[in-house]
Amino acid sequence: MIGRAQELIPAPSPVTGRVRLISANWKMNHNHLEAIAAMEKLYHLLRPEQFRYAELSIHPPFVDLRSLQLLFESDRMPFVLGAQNCHQEVSGAYTGEVSAPMLSKLGVGYVIVGHSERRRLFGESAELVAQKAVAVLAAGMVPIVCVGETLEEREAGATAAVIEAQLECVVAAVPLEALPKLVVAYEPVWAIGSGQAASPADASEAAAIVRGVVAKRGGEEASSKVRVQYGGSVSAGNAGMFMAAGGVDGLLVGTASLEPEGYAQLVRDA
Ligand code: PEP
Repeated sequence: MIGRAQELIPAPSPVTGRVRLISANWKMNHNHLEAIAAMEKLYHLLRPEQFRYAELSIHPPFVDLRSLQLLFESDRMPFVLGAQNCHQEVSGAYTGEVSAPMLSKLGVGYVIVGHSERRRLFGESAELVAQKAVAVLAAGMVPIVCVGETLEEREAGATAAVIEAQLECVVAAVPLEALPKLVVAYEPVWAIGSGQAASPADASEAAAIVRGVVAKRGGEEASSKVRVQYGGSVSAGNAGMFMAAGGVDGLLVGTASLEPEGYAQLVRDA
């Protein structure tokens, strides 16, 4: 069990000056009771140094958010609440959707937009992802913009072109002054949930491509502030390698974030 939440502010990396961010994407797993149990366990398995090393954002299904908000506040757990998606409009006749201001009201800090499962299974275009990123920023939160190539695109040598095309839409749409706030998750589609992670060199290369796209609109100053995560079959065995890769500021973790013991080990090893 750790001490007072306000003492557990993550320090920027002495090398990059950026605050590391390790994010747990639970996808459609854990009802609100399971979510509470998982977070109580995870909190007890982590030490203050893990909270000082990186921001730890937790992205549960929407229905768990209120329960976790209350848990984090009442037990002063210094996790950051995250969401997995949002609608691009503020309100209206969009049955089944959740808007960015609704998430912000629940204390959400980060919202994943453009996850490859949303692009592939729900037909989200680069333009729609850009609108969502704009909505997240307008509501005072930070978007985690997912980009990454499929296996076919990689084999065709199109990795850089795909990352650029996906990100350029977002970079063009958000207000110039918001560019430094962006978090971009490089998640090669072939690495997600496959057990076959990319290499740290792939992640570094992608981070350089991401910063190149941001620099084109916002200059070097903005691009040096943008944070880049790697995601795709991150495990306790490879988390440290990815965190040590040049240009990489954090991780977006799916499967390995579901089980508290394993995830605590991953965070300790990162
Ligand atoms: C993800 O869905 O964002 C992800 C990275 O999944 P996994 O860690 O299971 O590959």
